[in-house]
Amino acid sequence: MLLLTLLGNPVAHSISPRLHNSVFKALKIDACYVRKAVEDSEALLKTFWEMNLSGANVTVPHKEAAYAQCDEVRGLAKQIGAVNTLVREGTRVIGYNTDAEGFYMSIQAFEPLNNVLILGAGGTAKALAVILKERGLNVTILNRSHARLEFFKTQGFNVQTWETFSPQAYDLIVNTTSAGLKDEALPCPLAFLEAIFPQTRFAYDVIYNKPTPFLALAEQNHLTCKDGKEMLLYQAVLAFDLFFAQRYDRENVEALMRPVFDL
Ligand code: NDP
Repeated sequence: MLLLTLLGNPVAHSISPRLHNSVFKALKIDACYVRKAVEDSEALLKTFWEMNLSGANVTVPHKEAAYAQCDEVRGLAKQIGAVNTLVREGTRVIGYNTDAEGFYMSIQAFEPLNNVLILGAGGTAKALAVILKERGLNVTILNRSHARLEFFKTQGFNVQTWETFSPQAYDLIVNTTSAGLKDEALPCPLAFLEAIFPQTRFAYDVIYNKPTPFLALAEQNHLTCKDGKEMLLYQAVLAFDLFFAQRYDRENVEALMRPVFDL
């Protein structure tokens, strides 16, 4: 039997095992997806080999450590500097980032897009910014503090802090901060959102397990809104594809995972 897992800390509430195991069950694949809490970032690959895994997903706070420990990194993960998917190839572990492509797949209904504002400058913002730029969109990153903006600056993005920012029109505004996850905070000053929303068509929040004040305000302003559920779904579909070397029909895998979210 093939063993796959989610590596992170915490992992207890993740729905990744349900997503993958529902496909294993339906397609009678002899595999099992579990969760493994890992405290020490440096022990990721050691854990991978000790568990004799075929593949794994990596979540907070280990995506950057996973990138550093892989034998090889492929695709956009190289520019992002973080991996969320590990695949065993013989005696080597290959790292990929499916968050970026997963996000991009989830905004197809928002086309056409030109100008995007990303709120936040953490690991998720990196994945989103890199793929949007790669697909030819203009991306501005707005963060409350300066330090994490350095990565984006060196890659040629337009970067702003709350001190330097002046609101303008965007096609899409995306919240990648954790504001609203465990509190009722907005990801930036209310005055910015009040100025931006009337000039913006689409709002997206990568948070997927609760309605956030950011999306509630966007809805009040009649923007077309989306939360992070489909991004989570698509990153899992793409990871599944990598785990099994594209052996299974992607649309069928997606259809089998969708009911887990009630989508
Ligand atoms: P990080 O910790 O790497 O980055 C967090 C960012 O949010 C930083 O830029 C930080 O600013 C900013 N921030 C945090 N709190 C606030 C606040 N109260 N007000 C304004 N800015 C704030 O987080 P990740 O990028 O790893 O994750 C971010 C979110 O994305 C999480 O909620 C996570 O659940 C979600 N996520 C969703 C996925 C999906 O599939 N839907 C996949 C991955 C993540 P500063 O630099 O000033 O500290």
